[in-house]
Amino acid sequence: MAVRNSMDIAVVGNGVLGLSIAVEIARRAPKLEVAVIGPPERPLAASVAAGAMLNCFGEVTKYTHQHPAAEAKFTIARQALDEWPAWLDRLCDDIGDDAAALRASRTEGTFVLLSGRSGHLAQENFHAMRAALIKYDEPHEPVDPQDIEGLDPSPTARPSHAVHLPREGAVDARAVVTALEAAAGRHGVHLVPAAVRGLLADADTVAGVRLADGSTLSAGTVILAAGSTSSALADSVLPPGETPPMLHGNGLSLVTRRTAPHRAREVLRTPIRAGSCGLHLVPLAGADEQYIGANNMVTLRPAHGPGVGDGHAFLRQICEHLDQRIASSQVTQWLHGARPMPLDCFPLIGESSLRGLHFATGTYRDGFHCSPVIARHVTDTVLDRPATDPNFDWFTPKRLPIQTMTVEEAIAEFASHEVDAAYEYGLTLPFWLDSETVAQHSKQRARRVHEELDELVALPPDNLMALQGLTPAEGLADLRRYLHAAHAYHQKSAQTATV
Ligand SMILES: Cc1cc2nc3c(=O)[nH]c(=O)nc-3n(C[C@H](O)[C@H](O)[C@H](O)COP(=O)(O)OP(=O)(O)OC[C@H]3O[C@@H](n4cnc5c(N)ncnc54)[C@H](O)[C@@H]3O)c2cc1C
Repeated sequence: MAVRNSMDIAVVGNGVLGLSIAVEIARRAPKLEVAVIGPPERPLAASVAAGAMLNCFGEVTKYTHQHPAAEAKFTIARQALDEWPAWLDRLCDDIGDDAAALRASRTEGTFVLLSGRSGHLAQENFHAMRAALIKYDEPHEPVDPQDIEGLDPSPTARPSHAVHLPREGAVDARAVVTALEAAAGRHGVHLVPAAVRGLLADADTVAGVRLADGSTLSAGTVILAAGSTSSALADSVLPPGETPPMLHGNGLSLVTRRTAPHRAREVLRTPIRAGSCGLHLVPLAGADEQYIGANNMVTLRPAHGPGVGDGHAFLRQICEHLDQRIASSQVTQWLHGARPMPLDCFPLIGESSLRGLHFATGTYRDGFHCSPVIARHVTDTVLDRPATDPNFDWFTPKRLPIQTMTVEEAIAEFASHEVDAAYEYGLTLPFWLDSETVAQHSKQRARRVHEELDELVALPPDNLMALQGLTPAEGLADLRRYLHAAHAYHQKSAQTATV
């Protein structure tokens, strides 16, 4: 299909969010001209590196019920858990004869395992998950780890507890993205194989996008779904400080061919661990194929690839905590993607101050799982249907970073994450030293970062990990400038709103 240079809606980014939103708009408003713009090789895309576990309760942490914004995010994840079966059926209907591969890519069921080598944080997160399962009456069952097929940890890392979640499983992310692209094509969405270099504005309204080759595509609505590079694109057209900046949660993951017997039939995973995500094994459609994920190396600037040290620790821990025999598997694909991580780790979803420019990003660890609900909500918003879901109000891109703790609490939390990560990495200390030595060192580094930022924000531990080693010239000065601008901008907006 020839692409025109004028569209009703331009979606920037061809990951799971951009494609899901485009498909949902095209289903509901077939007369609109919609384009999805993104390079076919998808550099840095999180979506094609993802597990993609469809986990809601499996992702619960001790922070989930500590702040209303975290509760709102959890509510969206619960809606997604209910909606995935119908969403997948609809996608299969969209692609007709090609649906067999998509259906085969679905895995039912997840075991969440608390390894004997877990730190305190993983334990607290596991207990928070169990409390949430009971509170929300979600089907689950405690199981004896010995009965779980495919689980073979090292003797020191045998799980002390395991819970089976029958409604939580996984899909093959790469198969879903391929299916979404096919569905978009069948619904008449224009797929533009290019990168966007900049956004165009006409006074207070978005006007379209400029592509890397210098050509332009005009559109009255632009949906920014470019993953972790989204805020860099928005910066040139939005007032300084309007929107929290994005960091990059680099993840390494692998597709492997197994040589040892007894591949797990369901997802095996740990709870969320210190500063990271859960270790997980996901069976894929091929009888011997297995996905191994993932680590999380957070960077302020886009990274060229996953870190060697992080990768080494991650692969060692996968074998120790979940399955020693993975060591003999053969790697068929090394995957690297960057999770879109706003400074406060909460999503950026909604319209900006530039009329017609909508954000659909910042989903960090569970954007694949939440994609059907986000696609529905963004579609409602751009089609001017009454927005029915107040949970998204928290995630407007026009906000100061959401603060869930004080600076002192953030420093203490970071230190406890560092201690946990150090033990999980293999730290052992002589009897006359305790972990307070590590904690004090981490607290000093966390305090220095907060002082460099004039204590204008309390940073979540996940992002502090990226910032604690940086100098002002390596990005902290830019962040301080953003924070001053953000406080001035949002103070002024609040005053204007009350006049
Ligand atoms: C290793 C790993 C494992 C994960 N596991 C899970 C999981 O199990 N479950 C889960 O729910 N989530 C998981 N996630 C998180 C999930 O992948 C993300 O939340 C989600 O995929 C984000 O989707 P997106 O479409 O917003 O961004 P992306 O997938 O990053 O897509 C953005 C797209 O925009 C394109 N783009 C970038 N810049 C431009 C530009 N200038 N112009 C045009 N296009 C551009 C990129 O190439 C990319 O294709 C994981 C992430 C990683 C990295």
